Amino acid sequence: MKIEAVRTHLLDHALDTAFESASMRFTRRQHVLVEITCDDGTTGWGECLGPARPNAAVVAAYAERLIGRDPLETEILWQELYNLLRDQGQRGLAVTALSGIDVALWDIKGRHFGVPVSVLLGGRVRERVRAYATGSFRRDGVDRVSDNAAECAAHVAAGFHAVKIKIGFGVAADLAVIRAVREAIGPQARLMIDANHGYDVREAITLGRAAAELDIDWFEEPVLPEQLDAYRAVRAGQPIPVAGGETWHGRFGFREPLETRAIDIAQPDLCGTGGFTEMRRIADMAALHGVRLVPHVWGTGVQIAASLQFMAALLPDPPRRDPIAPILEFDRTPNPFRQAILKAPIEHDRGWVAIPDGPGLGIEIDRDALAEYAPRS
Ligand code: CA
Repeated sequence: MKIEAVRTHLLDHALDTAFESASMRFTRRQHVLVEITCDDGTTGWGECLGPARPNAAVVAAYAERLIGRDPLETEILWQELYNLLRDQGQRGLAVTALSGIDVALWDIKGRHFGVPVSVLLGGRVRERVRAYATGSFRRDGVDRVSDNAAECAAHVAAGFHAVKIKIGFGVAADLAVIRAVREAIGPQARLMIDANHGYDVREAITLGRAAAELDIDWFEEPVLPEQLDAYRAVRAGQPIPVAGGETWHGRFGFREPLETRAIDIAQPDLCGTGGFTEMRRIADMAALHGVRLVPHVWGTGVQIAASLQFMAALLPDPPRRDPIAPILEFDRTPNPFRQAILKAPIEHDRGWVAIPDGPGLGIEIDRDALAEYAPRS
């Protein structure tokens, strides 16, 4: 079996209502899928975290190295592609583009052997995972306090055990939102806060100390991801567990945060940090250091399926009766193509998501939906 073609598929949708995190404004939803086809007809799908067109350009730069190669040689190809851009790469788009390719190669490998990727990774520990609802961005034209409270109450009413909200817009305003959401969801539901690196250290510590009484499970990306000493200061200066890692790439990117305990919870993104090949190394490193791993997920059904395959095989740490189970980040923001590109959408049932058990990622792509959401220009 040899690789015959590497293609990217851009997906695009103009939002009716724009929304914002502390660091980014969304007026459109745009994602990019990677399709790799082999000479025997086997096709695998991947996805790259981050900006769609730049990722597609880097995938195209890697593509010529893949034509004619054996798609089963995932370790060899990963190292070769990483090394191709290493001197000017090491992180960012060089790794997010590689991630989409690696996920597609593992999809091919699973299809070739007729088993889910989770089986290739060593076996399925679980057949379903609990999901938490990610949403509560700042939307244009509405009162953020009442909007977020109502949204989170609806997620909990739909069966989600936990919700994550966006902060990082200013300490006082954020505390008003967190208080309103806690009141709206009641004392039992789990609540996480995500600053999208919108604070400096002093703000993050002030916010964390004040919000701790509201029973927060984690404080995500409090400060800029490059500032690991700032992460450590936030972790030391306030009581909420600190989470981060969606912009740290590969084992090299995770070494210092793990070795210096800059975080309590590591959040590598399978489609950003290097695909299955690198994600399993990062999971081993997190386990080595006793840091909990909760994958970051922000993409289409391809990324959700890939993340589910990985989570199916994630070993309990520590192993014990009734072990800690990983939870799935389940994006609830508007994105009409997120599930439309799958022939069988991956939805939740009262906050639980079944892990696909078909070969590869366990999904089939709806090509009509790819055409429907292709960019018009
Ligand atoms: Ca985040």
